[in-house]
Amino acid sequence: MPRLNIKKHTICTLGSHCALQVLKGAKDEGFKTLLICKKTRQNLYQRFSFIDEIILVNEFNEMFNTTIKKIISRENLYIIPHGTLISDIKLSTLEKLQIPIFGNKHILKWESDRKLKQRLMEEAKLSTPKEIKNKKQIKNLSIVKLHGAAGGKGYFLAWNEKSFNIRCKKLIEKKIIKSEDDLYIQEYSVGVPVYFHFFYSPLKNDVELLGIDRRYESDIDGLGRIPATIQQNINLDPTYNVIGNSPLVLRESLLYDAYSMSERFVAATSRLVKPGIPGPFCLEGVYDNNGNFTVFEFSSRIVAGTNLFIDGSPYSTLLFNIPMSMGRRIARELKLGIKKNRLSELLT
Ligand code: AMP
Repeated sequence: MPRLNIKKHTICTLGSHCALQVLKGAKDEGFKTLLICKKTRQNLYQRFSFIDEIILVNEFNEMFNTTIKKIISRENLYIIPHGTLISDIKLSTLEKLQIPIFGNKHILKWESDRKLKQRLMEEAKLSTPKEIKNKKQIKNLSIVKLHGAAGGKGYFLAWNEKSFNIRCKKLIEKKIIKSEDDLYIQEYSVGVPVYFHFFYSPLKNDVELLGIDRRYESDIDGLGRIPATIQQNINLDPTYNVIGNSPLVLRESLLYDAYSMSERFVAATSRLVKPGIPGPFCLEGVYDNNGNFTVFEFSSRIVAGTNLFIDGSPYSTLLFNIPMSMGRRIARELKLGIKKNRLSELLT
């Protein structure tokens, strides 16, 4: 059998979100690395010696221009999708793309469409917050979300129709939305937020928990710094814009259920969105005071919270004897796929 020369294989991503983690992990596993980078960020990314090659663009969608497309269409090149790829490139363009993408690109549509997302979570028998179809039905504390909004920006709380109308009007005035049809209302789940970073390996047929984080969101996480008596006197409308992430470890007794949720999710994806969910995904929700988890979101690709664990997490340490980031785990699965001639199970 010919010896595997992993240097002939390239891992490529866009310069943003978790690109440093992904390309560092790729280099640690022996791959060549390529970054598509906006000219304005060149000064940042050229500092890192694990990036072998940088292609400069003005906007990320230039990656489909003939010259750049030709470079990235080279043999043995794999694109790792992350939040920026999804927000900056149309899903329909990604669907048609001939260049291999790690993971299941068809599931990205299920992540961005709230109806499909709900269907998948129900198929996985995850407990989810109740959807409120009409503002007149708002009876309890509810969270109002923008469709496809990145990271909680513009979300607000409402507890009846009047409070909904006041905040909705503000968003329309600021031209953030066109009408209230652009909003999605969900029951607010009381508890503490937890974000699980899972990796599903089709080659090992196993789910791994590689880390857990919680998000630090402005202004909601800053409210505790303002005494309640003062909060009442100022017109403060907290929103949920993600600013950063902190690491978290869970009570060990909660881990069993966390793993079974992830296994049900993997099984549901393989039934509804072939070929399922090879690679990273995140289940996002809150634990209530009985230790029950309500899932309000999933991400079907690597999340930025994994950047906390470039050097591994308490959970990855239990599974691997070397520091294993999510980026490195992706590269390792690709390497195994190449060795075993099973790449087709990892790419779409
Ligand atoms: P998402 O875009 O759904 O990830 O939500 C952004 C943030 O809003 C989350 O990180 C939570 O802090 C908060 N959030 C979203 N949905 C709910 C919910 N149903 N109950 C409580 N908090 C929520």
